[in-house]
Amino acid sequence: MTERIHCFGCGVAIQTENKEELGYAPASSLEKETVICQRCFRLKHYNEVQDVSLTDDDFLKILNEIGRSDSLIVKIVDIFDFNGSWLPGLHRFTGKNKVLLIGNKVDLLPKSVNKQKVINWMKKEAKDLGLRPADVFLVSAQKGQSIKEVLEAIEYHREGKDVYVVGCTNVGKSTFINSVLKEVSGEENIITTSHFPGTTLDIIEIPLSDGKALVDTPGIINHHQMAHFVDKRDLKVITPKKEIKSRVFQLNEGQTLFFGGLARFDFTSGDRHSFVCYFSNELDIHRTKTENADALYEKHAGEMLTPPKRDEMEHFPKLIKHEFTIKEPKTDIVFSGLGWITVNEPNIKVSVYVPQGVHAMIRKSLI
Ligand code: GDP
Repeated sequence: MTERIHCFGCGVAIQTENKEELGYAPASSLEKETVICQRCFRLKHYNEVQDVSLTDDDFLKILNEIGRSDSLIVKIVDIFDFNGSWLPGLHRFTGKNKVLLIGNKVDLLPKSVNKQKVINWMKKEAKDLGLRPADVFLVSAQKGQSIKEVLEAIEYHREGKDVYVVGCTNVGKSTFINSVLKEVSGEENIITTSHFPGTTLDIIEIPLSDGKALVDTPGIINHHQMAHFVDKRDLKVITPKKEIKSRVFQLNEGQTLFFGGLARFDFTSGDRHSFVCYFSNELDIHRTKTENADALYEKHAGEMLTPPKRDEMEHFPKLIKHEFTIKEPKTDIVFSGLGWITVNEPNIKVSVYVPQGVHAMIRKSLI
């Protein structure tokens, strides 16, 4: 029987196959006397945390543990993909613990947007989804925007308790923690890692002034996010990096928009309407007649309608149609993880096509 090698830093079992997963270390490092996983390596040498993916099972264990603790929970969502990054069911685990809700990546929203309105919108959505946060913030972890404010709120609400930071992958949790680190420490090596009870997962702890800790929990993968259906190159196109410039289309009934080859929108019935599109500036939007749309997709998906690229089309899921009747003014039609279309006037019917497995929904407009 071969003995498993464990990381000297966090104790996780070392593996050399998958860089994205827990316990990865390059094969060459196994010859060293003490082996350390990539995550601990980065932490030790760059004071930088790295996200790892974990199974749903481990994630449930973590939530259970947090529910049993007496702590403050900081939940991070991606404001560009609010519903897709929500972590459904968290409220069932929080117990009596207070939750601070943080919408990250506010730098992506158009500058003209009223932040307080977005915060109010988040409060309302959270309530509808079953969570009543003690407070709500909009931050940019990347730009360091409003991080100080959040830290003050954490200090105020934690009432001398530990703090758990939770969020699904890609919401910017690592960037947030790194930004907090910059804010709270000049010193090195203030972070420690330890095992999460009941799992093989290591957690990262940042000590707080009173002996308590701010704990970075691993992020869960949300399988309904568009990110899981495209490859890394395409992810660059669909992930907005700067302020989103809205693109407005005046459409007649019977007109269609394609978002690359990733999604499609049909205006099925209603008077001429204005559709305000919030998608990554790099994603091409192509207008056509609905009657030609199927043939156009058949012929040009992977080329004119891209991403995905031609060579990925074979593995790309089929686009599935979802029909909606817009009954309320100021409604968003959401393509989970890709963007949304705002419709100001009601009484129309539309169809949304997204890859099988990706969510589409309508909501009260965010902006
Ligand atoms: P994690 O998986 O939740 O730890 O997320 P990361 O911290 O690795 O960030 C995921 C992606 O979002 C990366 O491409 C980051 O550069 C980006 N990101 C993180 N924070 C922000 C932010 O405040 N604004 C923007 N525009 N992007 C961000």
